[in-house]
Amino acid sequence: MTTVQAPRSDAASASAETFDSLNPATDEVVGTYPVHTAEQVEAAVARAREAARWWDSLGFDGRAERLRRWKGILARRLTDLCEVVRQETGKPRGDAQLEAVLAIEHVAWATRNARKVLGRQRRSPGLLLSNQAATVEYQPLGVVGVIGPWNYPVYTPLGSISYALAAGNAVVFKPSEYTPGVGKWLADAFAEAVPEQPVLQLVTGFGATGAALTRADVDKIAFTGSTATGKKIMAAAAERLTPVIIEAGGKDPVLVDADADLDAAAEATVWGAFSNSGQTCIGVERVYVHERVHDEFVAKVVERAERVRAGSGPGDQYGPMTMPAQLDVVRRHIADALARGGRALVGGADTVGDRYVQPTVLVDVPEDSLAVREETFGPTVTIAKVTDMDEAVAKANDSAYGLGSTVFSKRRGLELARKLRTGQTAINAPLSFAGIASLPFGGVGDSGFGRIHGPEGLREFARAKSIARQRFTPPLALTTFARTAKTEALVGKLIARLHGRS
Ligand code: NAD
Repeated sequence: MTTVQAPRSDAASASAETFDSLNPATDEVVGTYPVHTAEQVEAAVARAREAARWWDSLGFDGRAERLRRWKGILARRLTDLCEVVRQETGKPRGDAQLEAVLAIEHVAWATRNARKVLGRQRRSPGLLLSNQAATVEYQPLGVVGVIGPWNYPVYTPLGSISYALAAGNAVVFKPSEYTPGVGKWLADAFAEAVPEQPVLQLVTGFGATGAALTRADVDKIAFTGSTATGKKIMAAAAERLTPVIIEAGGKDPVLVDADADLDAAAEATVWGAFSNSGQTCIGVERVYVHERVHDEFVAKVVERAERVRAGSGPGDQYGPMTMPAQLDVVRRHIADALARGGRALVGGADTVGDRYVQPTVLVDVPEDSLAVREETFGPTVTIAKVTDMDEAVAKANDSAYGLGSTVFSKRRGLELARKLRTGQTAINAPLSFAGIASLPFGGVGDSGFGRIHGPEGLREFARAKSIARQRFTPPLALTTFARTAKTEALVGKLIARLHGRS
């Protein structure tokens, strides 16, 4: 049996039968997992197909009862779950708890609202077909493949999994190769709550295992990860016309208006940029500040950023980079910014170590440099001065990405938020939309498409089924060869009366 470890070359991983999950703070092996082959993935999907029929047959109440059991296990064993997250990502326990708590809120919301959102609803049949009773209901798709990333290994995949399950689907979940243990923990907890059928199964491995899931007989793929992988997944899914949700990367901006609460804006910027080592899809990467408050705001950010430290000690605010390859990206973005006239007010070229990256605050960085245009996914932030908020909106929107954004403004918060080309915007607080289970979440442009969370997230995992039931024979029979010239004339007159006057 061959086992591979990080850093993992594609050639080595292609033939390995198992792989090790490492603690990124120590390189200690914390678990060994199978590299599932395409055949094994297809077998899991076939089992899921059976399980999906049973899960669907339980109805909303039967599923809700079991999902509540699962939620109870997640909540009771929170400490245990957070320890697995900490081991595989290196993040502080408090951050692990934050993502797990938000994920549990999503399981609860999806469970509580599935019937209301997806159950049968009456629709108006319209005047011409008033003899019909029209209803729509949202039926499960069948089997959903969920492919997840490592940065929030509980919150992110559960944003798809819990909604797919609540909508009546079986799920085959392929977690990131960096966090297979978290995936296994979640699936094991589910199997304990729902022992009858394999409604949530786990497949582990590298990109090839994810690719096999994409090509398998699934009814939808919900992918969260990088834009580059999202494009590959969409191309592969096209072969079977399998629909996809793509939750990809971001380059999220913060806008700071002249009347903003600068302390709150600086605090949000520092936390949004550096927490989780900047490895947050909706993390703060760029800030545009009104010129009237620019210098004061920058001073407040610098003062706070200087107190933030990466490390794995008790006083450190964030941990190591989870994926070693990301260190090079961060190094390249900082070097490019500095080479092109940018200045590091905090950190700089030397902040990128072997595991940890200390905070970097950059100013005077040209808008066409890597640190402004590409996703850095590290603890760095650029701050730029703008003459007014129209310029801030234009610069924020001049990005291929469009995931999240934040506005700090007392008077114009809503107006500015609505102008930003992103899936979601927080006003006067950092990332607040991510914790509100009823709000849909998703991207624009290179950040992907489709929505998880909220009613829209439930409907992503269901198909609308329309039913028209005839209640009585229509006075004007239109869909028959027995239709008369008189009926046609009457309908023509009726339509002219109804719609012809405007
Ligand atoms: P990644 O694209 O490298 O990997 C994501 C998953 O895809 C992993 O499970 C991986 O094994 C799998 N995969 C790789 N190649 C594949 C292929 N050809 N076919 C099918 N599956 C394949 O991303 P990552 O490094 O794990 O995650 C970081 C990225 O995720 C960042 O860009 C971040 O912004 C993004 N992200 C987005 C959201 C969101 O909600 N929009 C949330 C979290 C993270």
